[in-house]
Amino acid sequence: MDFSGCSLCPRECKADRTKHNGFCGGGDKIKIARAALHFWEEPCISGKNGSGTVFFSGCQLKCCFCQNYKISEEAFGKEISTDRLSKIFLELQEKGAHNINLVSATPYLPLVINALDNINGRLHIPVVFNSGGYESVDTLKTLKGYIDIYLPDMKYLNPDIAEKYSSARDYPDVAKKALDEMFSQVGTPVFDNDGIMQRGMIIRHLALPNNLDDTYSVLKYISERFPDNSVLLSLMSQYTPCHKAFLHKEISRRISTLEYEKAVDYALSLGLKGFMQERSSAKEEYTPPFDLEGV
Ligand code: SF4
Repeated sequence: MDFSGCSLCPRECKADRTKHNGFCGGGDKIKIARAALHFWEEPCISGKNGSGTVFFSGCQLKCCFCQNYKISEEAFGKEISTDRLSKIFLELQEKGAHNINLVSATPYLPLVINALDNINGRLHIPVVFNSGGYESVDTLKTLKGYIDIYLPDMKYLNPDIAEKYSSARDYPDVAKKALDEMFSQVGTPVFDNDGIMQRGMIIRHLALPNNLDDTYSVLKYISERFPDNSVLLSLMSQYTPCHKAFLHKEISRRISTLEYEKAVDYALSLGLKGFMQERSSAKEEYTPPFDLEGV
């Protein structure tokens, strides 16, 4: 893979990653911070055995409230070879993982594809692409046939908010096109006999305090864009201010019970189905320790 002049993601920063890291923090080698069973995804992803989650270092989004900022912004992690990544996938499978869950893998995707090719026929569990939704359609097309489950965010539909919190004014347009491409690849949800997802798309939306109007816009968009019951919604309540969120007074608190209930009621009124969390589920366990476990 030639990482000079990178345009893997919508930032298209054209960094020569053989010489220096790109806007996302990615260099020319795979870098990961943790590879372990994770029990805090949606129930059909984590199941009882856990999701085989690989946290990649760096990220093309710059969300001021990122809970994973140590790896996303500070790019904590260890560089590993493609062969090692293949072995990690197989090790997670052996531990009983219901799936391989690629978290923010975009900066390394050509190498991740190589790692999956290396073990073609030996990996028998679904591969999940867990993404902030800010993805280029051309790059997503290279994933066709490799990804069984897309787990993207749809964070915002208001460009001003996307600019303010994630330095990505084009996020709404980019995410709309990305989600269309993802859905075209995997189609409607398929589950095994134990209720574990095998194929399909779950769209996540993290409800932010004092931003209910944009949450409503996102939910309405999802309900109108995708046919009934063709995608699942995960409406997340666990927002906790951290990192640079305190620079913005309006998001310097958790969401209120009333705000979350209003969002859930609206989603249900639109006929959206999926996962609505108890608001009390905002716990630290959602952010695992980035301690190089399994690396
Ligand atoms: S993946 Fe990283 S290096 Fe490549 S275009 Fe995006 S931000 Fe730049």
